[in-house]
Amino acid sequence: MGKSASALLAAAMAAAAMVFVASSPVAAFPVAGVPGAEPSFPNPWLAFQNLSGCHMGDERDGLARLKDYLSHFGYLSEAPTSSPFSDAFDAELEAAVATYQRNFGLNATGVLDPPTVSQMVAPRCGVADVINGTSTMDRNASAAGHGRHLYTYFPGGPMWPPFRRELRYAITATAATSIDRATLGAVFARAFARWSDATTLRFAEAASESDADITIGFYAGSHGDGEAFDGPLGTLAHAFSPTDGRFHLDAAEAWVADGQGGDAPGAVDLESVAVHEIGHLLGLGHSSVQGAIMYPTIRTGTRKVDLESDDVQGIQSLYGTNPNFKGVAPTSPSTSSREMDSSAGASSRPGGGFAAVVVAVGLLLLLPL
Ligand SMILES: [Zn+2]
Ligand SMILES: [Zn+2]
Repeated sequence: MGKSASALLAAAMAAAAMVFVASSPVAAFPVAGVPGAEPSFPNPWLAFQNLSGCHMGDERDGLARLKDYLSHFGYLSEAPTSSPFSDAFDAELEAAVATYQRNFGLNATGVLDPPTVSQMVAPRCGVADVINGTSTMDRNASAAGHGRHLYTYFPGGPMWPPFRRELRYAITATAATSIDRATLGAVFARAFARWSDATTLRFAEAASESDADITIGFYAGSHGDGEAFDGPLGTLAHAFSPTDGRFHLDAAEAWVADGQGGDAPGAVDLESVAVHEIGHLLGLGHSSVQGAIMYPTIRTGTRKVDLESDDVQGIQSLYGTNPNFKGVAPTSPSTSSREMDSSAGASSRPGGGFAAVVVAVGLLLLLPL
């Protein structure tokens, strides 16, 4: 790779991160692991809450970091290294905030109101929402109405070519996670099946990395692709557009697999994130539909693994329809997303997710040396 790999990376990464917000993407979701109940759990973006109410003309500590965040997800151009972002709320920031608000279905005021800040703090996919100045999300989501098609593709519409309809994946980097190999195999197989059920694509686990089209791994901090992970919450994962095939997960998350560890603070459902990232691997960008798998954020303690009609239309337009596809489940939030069973297996594997955090911290300490 080389060429515009970094742009694709940035795009792919932005999609991977998820958020735990007050204004949940899954509206009717039963709330047990309330975000406010875990104030001490680290979140790299929590300081944005101090910016609530900021608007054009303000100057406030922390606005420079918010600009870095908006730049990372494509809403602002990168600051030149010679002159980093300032803490001034200027016209560029106001326009970036308004674009962000449109993408997430918020009132596009350009003001950092509480719903906007809450959405920004939520854990999310690392893949950008805006790539090369073009929003990959539908800016007019609220006006789309009936028959909406809010799914998106990466710029240029990269996809796997027609002669590659059987893709092989390898789980290649697992040293940084405490989840056992058999569980990982089962979780990722189910996540791929969500997409093969709807399309002509087929997936199989490869015997080795050299046989694989897609590679999946857990990494902590900086890991060689210019898209460093940020510890618990914040960015959760990222994946690259076709036909790159790389799918990286932040090893520092309190991942929940098969219900194990669901009661940990900041628990994130691995299968839910995997279904989302596979969408990127296949060519989908982010969607403004809150119930869609390709929505950029996910709440902690929630599970969202069923494709929504927006996801299905997007992927079938690229790869055709599986004649055996039974259609999407009824769109009731209780079926498209439901509370994780935090009791199952939690007591048998106490702190499993936190073992991963410890490993990640260890790696982070080693990296800069
Ligand atoms: Zn994503
Ligand atoms: Zn990566």
